[in-house]
Amino acid sequence: ELFADFRESILPGITHWNHPAFFAYFAITGSQAGVLGELLSGALNLNGMLWRTSPALTELETVALAWLRDALGLPDNLFGIINDTASMNSFYGLAAARQAAGADVRTKGLSGGPVLRVYCSEHAHSSIDKAAIGLGIGLDNVVHIQSDDAYRMRPDALEAAIARDRAAGLRPCAISATLGTTSTGSVDPLPAIGAIAQREGIWLHVDAAYAGPAALCPEYRWLWDGIGYADSIVTNPHKWLFTPVDCAVLYTKRPDVLREAFSLLPPAYLTTSESAINYMDYGLQLGRRFRALKLWLVLEHYGLEHLREVIRGHIGLARRLEEELGKRDDVELMAPRTFGVVVFALKAGDAATEALLQRINASGAAFVSNTKLKGRYCLRVAIGNGATEWRHVERILDSLGAGQ
Ligand code: PLP
Repeated sequence: ELFADFRESILPGITHWNHPAFFAYFAITGSQAGVLGELLSGALNLNGMLWRTSPALTELETVALAWLRDALGLPDNLFGIINDTASMNSFYGLAAARQAAGADVRTKGLSGGPVLRVYCSEHAHSSIDKAAIGLGIGLDNVVHIQSDDAYRMRPDALEAAIARDRAAGLRPCAISATLGTTSTGSVDPLPAIGAIAQREGIWLHVDAAYAGPAALCPEYRWLWDGIGYADSIVTNPHKWLFTPVDCAVLYTKRPDVLREAFSLLPPAYLTTSESAINYMDYGLQLGRRFRALKLWLVLEHYGLEHLREVIRGHIGLARRLEEELGKRDDVELMAPRTFGVVVFALKAGDAATEALLQRINASGAAFVSNTKLKGRYCLRVAIGNGATEWRHVERILDSLGAGQ
């Protein structure tokens, strides 16, 4: 009876993220191996507060994140930890940056410290602003740097903003570069940004929440050009790595600083004798889900070669959609396509583009989302579900009608 209720009362009210024609936000996949991982994790009901409260939970998280790091071609000096979302991981990356900037907020609180500044492009995800709210840095101290015509942060504008702030007595704390922006998938020029961060002694945070998994494919390894400069890096297996929500990874080459920001001399009830990793020392939470289980099952079951093929398939579908849209006189492609995201507008104007989005979503044929570029209302098609085929993507073209 309850299952009948679930079908009749709950399912009609969901937005079906696991559907192959879901193209909104970033399309994701709760793969079979990942779903089994969630089931096992739920059945075991472990809480990895400390290493001893389930040694396999901590050990598998450490091992699976080293495998993922190597599979993505990231530097081998990175420490990894799984948290729920990229937003929380960026919060932690910037918390470590705040610690490294010498603002001893953990001990003294916010009173009387230096004014800290965080730099990111105008196309950075809003989670950087939220981290600044949560860390007491303040929204006014997030400097949104101008981007170029392809929506990439301009290093010359970054340099100028830092110089202006130093002259005004403000303290640069962190630069956040985005590799795969939310609106278009654009990639900030990390080698130039990293060189500035190094020269200025500023923590470099990298948000690769969406595009990071593309680096499984050797032909997309260029994504990490300049990654040696990064102090912290975020990527989300729950976005483009077939792992069910939630599973987001934070890597850092300075785990000592992250630990310094959050570890305490533990109270008696959390004191243990082992010298092992206690992940509670690297963030706010004590309790910890066994998220590594689903990530490990996804990597093991599908294998890297298969995962690469699926990712290449998504990019190929996006390329084909871009080509088809490019042939139409009534459509304007609004951004260069880098990965699986195609952004376009109707030449007839914002009202027509918005009406198209409403029509597609109301029809149930597909689900798409919108963004704003150069002041224009744009439609975003993000391809990333494991079951998506051309016949699903083609529904976008069908909804445009015969057109020109
Ligand atoms: N960073 C980027 C570039 C994103 O596109 C997103 C979400 O789409 C996020 C961060 C936030 O991700 P999460 O929902 O895991 O916090």
